[in-house]
Amino acid sequence: MMNAIVMTGPGEYGLQKVPVPRPRKGEVLVKIRAVAICGSDPKVFDGSYMGIGWPPHFPFIPGHEFAGKVVELGEGVTKFSVGDRVAGEAHCGCGECINCMEGRYNLCLNYGKPETGHRHYGFTYQGAYAEYNTYNVKALTKIPDNVTYEEASLADTAGTALQAIKLTGIAPCGYTLVIGPGPIGIFAMQIAKAIGSRTIMVGRRERLELAGRLGADYLINYEQCKDVVSRVREIAGGLGVHQAFECAGSDSAMQQCVLAARKNGKVALVALPATDLHMLPVKTMVMNQIHVIGSRANPSCTRDVLEMMSAGAINARDMITHTFPLQDFETAMQTFVRRIDGAMKVVVCPNND
Ligand SMILES: [Zn+2]
Ligand SMILES: [Zn+2]
Repeated sequence: MMNAIVMTGPGEYGLQKVPVPRPRKGEVLVKIRAVAICGSDPKVFDGSYMGIGWPPHFPFIPGHEFAGKVVELGEGVTKFSVGDRVAGEAHCGCGECINCMEGRYNLCLNYGKPETGHRHYGFTYQGAYAEYNTYNVKALTKIPDNVTYEEASLADTAGTALQAIKLTGIAPCGYTLVIGPGPIGIFAMQIAKAIGSRTIMVGRRERLELAGRLGADYLINYEQCKDVVSRVREIAGGLGVHQAFECAGSDSAMQQCVLAARKNGKVALVALPATDLHMLPVKTMVMNQIHVIGSRANPSCTRDVLEMMSAGAINARDMITHTFPLQDFETAMQTFVRRIDGAMKVVVCPNND
């Protein structure tokens, strides 16, 4: 048996003893060492996403930003050995549909059908807020020796930023705007800077300050700036930015990204809004030929972000403000949700050996 945070209904969850799962063909059993709380987790726990099937049933164990150690191999596994340190990602495609075949397993056409092999760990399939979980080897990547489990648990977040960066086709030099200095926004800024772009971060308070400490070239506090778009365009030589990342999820941030982009600029929408009802400045999009791209999750990004952490090109360590044992899960969740003591990434450690 093992300890796990088990949801028994919307808003109802707690520590329980449940059986340790057994690895099936193509899977390994992972002893979970670190799970980062994601911005989506509070909404999974309170039932806000039940309309889209997250979770699909009760009891259910959420948690998807994890790292741990392989402790048992299922039938046919050759990619990993017992003892390997691995980081995970939430999406595991069926491997057979056209999107999976083309590498876009975040958009698997068999989404939510476990009988096809599809998994969305922590959303439609058992997740990582537990001492152990089984994973298909496709969802796991070895961690470089100089990256800790806690840092590696941020690979899912950093990968989500990298995927948005890839979709904009970001090139060296130029100006990158990020609105929303949450974990994904700060990683997008760090990756853009690592590639060689000048970075402008829009936000406020401690999170904007953290973005500055982690290397943002220009900070704009929107509470003190009358006209964010003009200020961004001014910084970017009057022409606007080459690419903009919307990581705040608000109408005003979406509009500012489009209005601050230069002609033929790219805008990636990264935050997941609650509904389709948002206003974009369509005339400007047409006249300035602005490319607006939706970006979901992090296909084929985990290895690269772990390498960037290992090389020191991005800093995950300073994004982690708090760590808690699994037994203190509720304190960890409240610290994250209420941003107590400037909480940014809060990491839960189910096994502290
Ligand atoms: Zn996440
Ligand atoms: Zn598929």
